[in-house]
Amino acid sequence: MWYNLIFILVIFIAVFVGFTGYTLAKDNNSALDQLSEYVNKLEQLPQNPNTWQEPVGAMCYKVAAPPERAEYICPTCGEMTLYPTYASGTLDSIPSYRNLVKKIKKIYVKLDESQFCDKCSPNTKTRDLCLIVKASKDSNPHKTCDITKDDIMLLYEYSEGIKEHDNYYEKVPLANYEARLEELLGVKIKIDKDKK
Ligand SMILES: [Zn+2]
Repeated sequence: MWYNLIFILVIFIAVFVGFTGYTLAKDNNSALDQLSEYVNKLEQLPQNPNTWQEPVGAMCYKVAAPPERAEYICPTCGEMTLYPTYASGTLDSIPSYRNLVKKIKKIYVKLDESQFCDKCSPNTKTRDLCLIVKASKDSNPHKTCDITKDDIMLLYEYSEGIKEHDNYYEKVPLANYEARLEELLGVKIKIDKDKK
């Protein structure tokens, strides 16, 4: 800050001398007197920059920007629920869950996003995706929350009669996931362990 002031004063002197130079051409000593006067003033400034007190009027104030929010639009009621930006990753992943569920044609599976909507779930303590599944046409709807994409894939494979589960790394017999499928379907099932 001290150095900045010196710099500004030097510029000022240079401009001053420049403007007055031609009027003082007759008497150059007068301009030199002015210059030495400024140099004297500079010497009176605090020598230690650490002790320099910044004038209050020169302080800068940053106006805080309003915090950004992530928006969730409920597909059921159309209401918007605002989330802190750190939740945007979760919100952005929801469409990929919707698309996976759309692949399932042979049993009733619905993605329940209601916990993400303040209007649909005004008292919810959790923000989880849920699945509503009907194991057969006449079954009661069965709801499971905190589901994963793997769960949706299991239901797809089960509904299509696919005997292996593709977990992105390898193919595992679907029968290994019988217990999880029973949780998701809400009924007991028996998966043939033999590959067809
Ligand atoms: Zn809603």
